Amino acid sequence: MPADEFSLISRYFSAFGAGPAVALSVGDDCAILTLEPGERLATSVDTVVAGVHFPEESLPEDVGYRAVAAAASDLAAMGARPLGMTLALTLPEADELWLHSFSQGIGAAAKALALPLVGGDTTRGPLTITVQVLGALPTGKALLRGGAGPGDAVCVSGTLGDAAAGLAVLEGRYRPALAAAEYLEQRFFRPSPRLALGMALLRGETDPEAPADGGPVAAASAAIDISDGLLADAGHIAAASGVRIELDAALIPLSAALAAHPDRDQALRWALTGGDDYELCFCLPAGAAVPPGCTRIGEVVAGEGVSCPGFDGLAAGYNHFS
Ligand code: ADP
Ligand code: MG
Repeated sequence: MPADEFSLISRYFSAFGAGPAVALSVGDDCAILTLEPGERLATSVDTVVAGVHFPEESLPEDVGYRAVAAAASDLAAMGARPLGMTLALTLPEADELWLHSFSQGIGAAAKALALPLVGGDTTRGPLTITVQVLGALPTGKALLRGGAGPGDAVCVSGTLGDAAAGLAVLEGRYRPALAAAEYLEQRFFRPSPRLALGMALLRGETDPEAPADGGPVAAASAAIDISDGLLADAGHIAAASGVRIELDAALIPLSAALAAHPDRDQALRWALTGGDDYELCFCLPAGAAVPPGCTRIGEVVAGEGVSCPGFDGLAAGYNHFS
């Protein structure tokens, strides 16, 4: 970057760095984060590239928010408590209008997801955004892909397929009514990584975000976040756990906006194979209460792979890759 790289960093990326775990933030050679006794560090990194992971004409604010939310979803999938994040940014030029808007999205996500921005790197090149997330897990505990067993229920949070439908709207492949179009686009750009649910599923307790009458949440036997599509990601649980997952397409939760699609099979194909929803897919011991905001969509049996009657062609395609 040009000589004023440091003024760019201080102008746009130094205001979101405070948090309970942050001992030292942007400005020195490393950031320093504090873990509580009995905790371990969980970390994950995700890169998004303009034109590959989001349309080039997207609002910079949305691009920033989505990059953080997508990365944070991996902490949710492990049940980790968010501590902070770093941002490696490659920019074609120091476009201050773009940076202002982008940094607003980063800041909004940092606040919403309790992930202070504690450091990063800024370089010149084709627009590329890399977010590393840092979280804390109690020693000896984590939600893994590999713990599911026959008899477990398979559940998902939220609704599926919205982000894929939103991308279709953005690319002009689907033209629903205005309110539905706006909802679906916003589900693509502003995913809600289920951090509180992940932590509750790890510990087996009440989801702090659930309504007051929500019952206790059982500790999940396995979990993954849905970034590549339900069939693919359920396939990762099946493979890691050495089990088969049988899904019922009729149980897949669809938003009102997506359920309004005139072709229900197309809506379900987005729900089953569309990436970028960043909901959680998890397994619960038989008989455990399904957490509020979540839906039971199938069951774990002995065997391998994923089945979804009526859509098995799609499932077979994904088995092939898993
Ligand atoms: P170094 O040369 O020691 O790697 P840099 O010049 O890359 O340091 O960065 C200076 C400071 O600014 C460091 O604390 C770094 O973490 C932070 N930083 C650089 N780029 C970003 C960014 N995009 N977002 C947040 N912090 C950043
Ligand atoms: Mg550096």
